[in-house]
Amino acid sequence: MRPAQSRVWHPFFQHATEPAPPCAVSSEGAYIHTDRGPLLDAISSWWVVTHGHNQPEIVEAIRRTAGHLDQVIFAGLTHAPAEELAEALIALAPAGLEHVFFSDSGSTAVEVALKMALGYWRHEGDGRHRIAVIEDSYHGDTIGTMSMGERGVFNAAYDPLMFAVDRLPFPTGDGAATLAAFEALAATGRMAALILEPLVLGAGGMRMYPASVLAGLRAICDRHDVLMIADEVMTGWGRTGRLWACDHAGIAPDILCTSKGLTGGVMPLAATLATARIFDAHRSTDRRRTFYHSSSYTANPIACAAALAQVRLWQASPMQARLDALGAMQADRLAALAGDGRFTNPRRCGTIAAIDLIVPEGGYLSEVGPRLRAHMLDQGVLLRPLGNTVYVLPPYGVTGADLDLAWGAVASFEV
Ligand code: PLP
Repeated sequence: MRPAQSRVWHPFFQHATEPAPPCAVSSEGAYIHTDRGPLLDAISSWWVVTHGHNQPEIVEAIRRTAGHLDQVIFAGLTHAPAEELAEALIALAPAGLEHVFFSDSGSTAVEVALKMALGYWRHEGDGRHRIAVIEDSYHGDTIGTMSMGERGVFNAAYDPLMFAVDRLPFPTGDGAATLAAFEALAATGRMAALILEPLVLGAGGMRMYPASVLAGLRAICDRHDVLMIADEVMTGWGRTGRLWACDHAGIAPDILCTSKGLTGGVMPLAATLATARIFDAHRSTDRRRTFYHSSSYTANPIACAAALAQVRLWQASPMQARLDALGAMQADRLAALAGDGRFTNPRRCGTIAAIDLIVPEGGYLSEVGPRLRAHMLDQGVLLRPLGNTVYVLPPYGVTGADLDLAWGAVASFEV
């Protein structure tokens, strides 16, 4: 239970104005049970839960592994959960990704990708070091990932520490302006990598762009030898209706980052997958080429076992049919709001559905966000709007009645 005077400093939480949060006691399926009653987890607890909270197969794998193997150093030592998971990831990943580097969060998976890309060009004796990004992107909250993300209210205070990147306009329509801007940048011969959230910019407002743009960006990377880093931290593991968002475009990145749903949302773990070309540039008798990156809990065996159980669920259950059904249910709920003049810009990509509230002032600091969040809590729904963007991104086991609860609560909000 939470003490009256909590010492906990919460993330993305304004302690001066926000009421004390509910206290989670247990979780199961699409629900979190709190000291104030059940909450439908309409955002999969920051987009991590895939199959459902406390998925029995994953819990069992954790129990089994914790019973005989806990954290062990991963430099100069290996273990079966990591080896088996790496094999399984490679089998499911887009073609050409052949090596797996483990870390512990989405941000670190992206930092690792960035270091792999810069290291690759340095070891190749090429001076490329610029990074291209799509405006409004989000890649994490470390200094490096913030540098590549959108600059604004989240990170203004840290601006002096951040490095410069080349920003492409967010793709609208057929993305011609974005593709032209990237072609011009890539042709300079200075670009080390393009990093992007494929198909959906998550924290940037659930902004969506077509797979054809992703394919176009890949083609430009190929023409000018720019590495493509796909940040699939949010989009991976079925969120966009396919295993990877890259699958919609039939493309393979040079580096892919995964976390969040990797363990089904049960344990912190991340992986950065790379091609043999990138791995080989770091494999040398010259020890200066060693990939010097680690964190203490790299490839935690219990987390790897949880991820392996999650992957086995993917392989064993009819996931595609489930994702298609969930996508169709979300489409129905969005369509029902279409005639409501308080909303605009309904959009969906796979299991993710979003719509914007029409307010005099949008943006992250819009006062409507906290009000809507409080209203949803009152209705028994956990939902965190992104400014005036409302989205539902549920665990895959959610029912139609659950979605009715979530979208009904949105519809009953008085702007
Ligand atoms: N990349 C993307 C696309 C994300 O959506 C997030 C988190 O929301 C991250 C990276 C950072 O992941 P983490 O919060 O696990 O560090």
